[in-house]
Amino acid sequence: MIHTLRLCTVCIEEKPEGDFVKRGNGYRNTCKQCHAEIMKRRRTEDPESGRESRSRYKKSEKGKEANRRHQKGWRDRNRDKVNRYYSLYRKRNPGKIKALTAKRYADKTKATPKWADLSAIARIYQEAREKGMHVDHIVPLRSEVVCGLHCEANLQLMTPAENRRKSNLWPLQKEVIQGREEGCRALATGIVKALQEA
Ligand SMILES: [Zn+2]
Repeated sequence: MIHTLRLCTVCIEEKPEGDFVKRGNGYRNTCKQCHAEIMKRRRTEDPESGRESRSRYKKSEKGKEANRRHQKGWRDRNRDKVNRYYSLYRKRNPGKIKALTAKRYADKTKATPKWADLSAIARIYQEAREKGMHVDHIVPLRSEVVCGLHCEANLQLMTPAENRRKSNLWPLQKEVIQGREEGCRALATGIVKALQEA
């Protein structure tokens, strides 16, 4: 990552990573200041509830459903804030947005295998973005003869010019594949014929 500034989902401000609460190997999406305020509010509103029973409730179906309702309600009441957050997020993460768009397209075409490494794919799109290159599907997602997969092994970086050249060349590759298929069919027919004659 080039930037070490993080975007807080509560105050929608960009702050240095050190101003965020740690979680696991990374950081929360909430800055220390906002996190402290949330915890304080939680303690005063609900001083009785212990940590353990709360975390049990949060994991239950009822708790999850309540949480979804709560979040949806919050988003509806804070449209402005949500929009501001997403527009900043898009500006900060153009590569991730591109990867997401490509993923949606691939989902539509059912081209993403279960084992695809989505974070590796996102990194490829981010790298392309940073280098001003295109991400190319080595075997195209959709062509008349074969359909490639949306997975890290089928992705390569190309300059815009190379990418254009490739889309001009692909029909030739199509003919190669077609020729191979016809060859296979001829071979299969020959074998069947030989068996029948034997
Ligand atoms: Zn904040």
